[in-house]
Amino acid sequence: MSERATPFAHRNEPSAPPAIPAEATPMMAQYLEIKGQWPDALLFYRMGDFYELFFEDAVAAAGALDIALTKRGKHLGNDIPMCGVPVHSHEAYLERLIRKGFKVAVCEQVEDPSEAKKRGAKSVVARAVQRLVTPGTLTEDTLLDARAHNYLAALARVGSEGELGLAWADVSTGEFAVTGVSRSGLGAELARLSPGELLVSEGFAADEGNGEILAHSGAALTLLPAARFDSGNAERRLKDHFAVAALDGFGAFSRAELGAMGALLDYVELTQVGRMPALAAPRRVATAETMAIDAATRANLELVRTLQGETAGSLLAAIDRTVTGAGARELGSRLAAPLTDPQAINRRLDAVDWLVEAREVRRDLRSALKSAPDIARALSRLSLGRGGPRDLAAIAGGLAAAHTLCGALDAAPPSLLPLPDEIARECAAMANVAAPLKERLAATLAEELPLIARDGGFIAKGASADLDETRALRDDARKLIAGLQAKYAEETGISALKVRHNNVLGYYIEVPPRHGEKLVQPPFSETYIHRQTMANAMRFTTTELAGLASRIAEAAGRALEIELALFDELVAATLAETSALARTAEALAALDVTAALAELAVERRHVRPRVDGSLAFAIRGGRHPVVEAALAKTGEQFVPNDCDLSADNSAEQGAQRSGDEPDRRQSSSRSDMPDNDSRHDAPKSLWLLTGPNMAGKSTFLRQNALIAIMAQMGAFVPADEAHIGTVDRLFSRVGAADDLARGRSTFMVEMVETAAILNQAGPRSLVILDEIGRGTATFDGLSIAWAAVEHLHDVNRSRALFATHYHELTVLAEKLEHLANATMKVKEWKGDVVFLHEVGPGAADRSYGIQVAKLAGLPPAVIARAQSVLSALEKGNDREARAKLIDDLPLFSATARPDAPLTEESAVETELKNLNPDELTPKEALDLIYRLRGLMKDGG
Ligand code: ATP
Repeated sequence: MSERATPFAHRNEPSAPPAIPAEATPMMAQYLEIKGQWPDALLFYRMGDFYELFFEDAVAAAGALDIALTKRGKHLGNDIPMCGVPVHSHEAYLERLIRKGFKVAVCEQVEDPSEAKKRGAKSVVARAVQRLVTPGTLTEDTLLDARAHNYLAALARVGSEGELGLAWADVSTGEFAVTGVSRSGLGAELARLSPGELLVSEGFAADEGNGEILAHSGAALTLLPAARFDSGNAERRLKDHFAVAALDGFGAFSRAELGAMGALLDYVELTQVGRMPALAAPRRVATAETMAIDAATRANLELVRTLQGETAGSLLAAIDRTVTGAGARELGSRLAAPLTDPQAINRRLDAVDWLVEAREVRRDLRSALKSAPDIARALSRLSLGRGGPRDLAAIAGGLAAAHTLCGALDAAPPSLLPLPDEIARECAAMANVAAPLKERLAATLAEELPLIARDGGFIAKGASADLDETRALRDDARKLIAGLQAKYAEETGISALKVRHNNVLGYYIEVPPRHGEKLVQPPFSETYIHRQTMANAMRFTTTELAGLASRIAEAAGRALEIELALFDELVAATLAETSALARTAEALAALDVTAALAELAVERRHVRPRVDGSLAFAIRGGRHPVVEAALAKTGEQFVPNDCDLSADNSAEQGAQRSGDEPDRRQSSSRSDMPDNDSRHDAPKSLWLLTGPNMAGKSTFLRQNALIAIMAQMGAFVPADEAHIGTVDRLFSRVGAADDLARGRSTFMVEMVETAAILNQAGPRSLVILDEIGRGTATFDGLSIAWAAVEHLHDVNRSRALFATHYHELTVLAEKLEHLANATMKVKEWKGDVVFLHEVGPGAADRSYGIQVAKLAGLPPAVIARAQSVLSALEKGNDREARAKLIDDLPLFSATARPDAPLTEESAVETELKNLNPDELTPKEALDLIYRLRGLMKDGG
């Protein structure tokens, strides 16, 4: 979904409805009464084949949808504005309104119009709101992205300063979870979840600073009174809903967590008008289980979306090889929340490893998965009473795919085991519980299925004797009608006579007008009953035809009744297996992700990282997965680089010890890493990276962060070797952009992000800092960068990469024990710079900014002038010397003739050009060398 909902849904909320005046028509009175119950939503009021909107709703919707605004009747003497959308295509309109931040209450006719008529000619058909459609509670495939989660989240606070609870659910799949979160960690959690809609109390949203965090989440906000987050009520609601006497079995929830879950449950019930989706029991996620990645870091590293908001170009897009929507959603969740427990990570890696090796099993699994429909979403729609025959078919198809998959896994040679636990378990469950359901669905459903059950025709022939019989009756009657045309034509001698059908008249006999007169005369008038006269035809019926037609209608009605009863039975049978089906769906998604990661590893030559509880961070031959893929398209090679930030475990108090088995294909060595040779005993956990612009510093920084994320999500990594002691928090400050919407300049954004890092990073964190202090005056920037390096080294003690153009900082390596200098190698060739993209030990002596500017196409005059200024600046570095610059430098016009060569010929070059080496005596040659040296000293 590229277009996100606007952050403040209430901005688009229509105003309260007009009062119900005594002279209102019965229909308008009904409308106003219903609208009064749903003041915050647009009311889609069903009238026949249209959803109509009135008053302010009509004005707002017509504007948002760009459709015609008309009027209907009067209200208090004024025209009533009206607009409408056809029922058959309403989902497209719904989608647009939801994306624009509206909520829509869908009001249906809940009785047959004929029932209403029985109450009197003027009575209105009963109507009721069946559902409130909001950004976080969608279930329709047309409104959802198949490959992304759509979370509804709720945030509760206990006390004005106290703990926060954040609950989230995907109504379209039944996932339900909760976590405790601190206010400082809230932005990161919201960035991880990226909810479509967030429920929050009015009080919390109004508190200083909170509005900004909430708005930044990008979710549509729904403000609720604080009472809705009450933990006592919540506990009762949860116990009731999950039919348990105590919640302890699900986890030990804090009051804030309970409050959040309760508010979420209430809201789902409100929007689904009493029906509840098959929500799984709530899962409590401890924040420490996953790598903390704050919102800025997520955005900067372009994990699921680029800084421009595109999916293409993100890490997720580069590594996604899943073949199902559920698999893609699971991959997105794993990427958003890399794990921190080495054992859990290694379990995932074992599974990927297994499928890397088992090529044929992988191929079979992936091809079976390709045809696996989305069980979770179909199940959710069925449980909400919103499912159709195609959802039942999706369940059947999903189970069939699961069955094939289990077969493929069974066939795997035992040498390749262990089979990942979760998958083995679910295979057994599928065989025992779900197999009968699969067979029943497959045997009952027809091949071609309508979207909604009421359209009928979805039960296969042979599934119900009763239905087959009724259908036969209907078909016989149809055949008899088809025979009538020939009989009547012969009987009347009118060869142009036809038996036709339309929705108004049903079946009728049609003849051209000139023959019609014949039929209204005896003897035919006794049989043929006149129905209609048109300009070019006359229409009749007969008792026989009407009898057959009513037999057809009756049989069709009866057939539909039988079908709908069977549909209800199938839905009930399916919902009875909800938990087995949900687990099957989860196992399929996990299998898809695992096979996809294995496929990626083979395709892109990724290796299994060694992940443990140490403080290692040793990457040999690391690559940037996105840049490498982009370069590959143009046939260019990515230059791999090493990085070793491994720190001493003793640096971390209570660091988790490794309990993992050593990896059979990995080992880590630090001997070949820059500046970490045997001469320097102390581990170098902080690298200061200098090098020219465009040399690849940012790429190097990001690739190491991405490798850590990939390793901890349980993926193989783009490197020749990798050893990573789990990272608990990842911080990055790369690239700078104004955040003018929040009133922050580039430099301010940079400093806010830097402050967050220096205040929060610890020994188990990984920190990536790119060009701190660039957005201000040189000396201010240099001083800030200097102090930040020292702080990182002495206080944070994180594993860190620090890229800078302040070469002055490299002297710190002499003072700071754990700091190493590294640089991007370049070659100079004929005055131009050639980037090698290679990281090596040492420090860069210059930034080659002017050469890069030249490559970028700055006018030659500006380049020449910049060169003069640079050499003058380099000669005198103190304040006085720089003050003299203005006097000493020739004017721009004197040095920078537009046609001037890029570099003027120096005195040394002139001297060399004018001599003939063959004519020099040895003494003259020696003299020349002295003279040239003299010229160079003079700046020639
Ligand atoms: P600046 O200081 O100007 O921000 P930088 O040193 O951070 O520049 P990057 O932005 O990382 O440079 O890289 C510039 C370009 O160089 C990238 O877009 C990429 O195309 C290429 N590049 C970077 N690293 C490599 C590599 N290891 N192998 C091949 N190409 C690379």
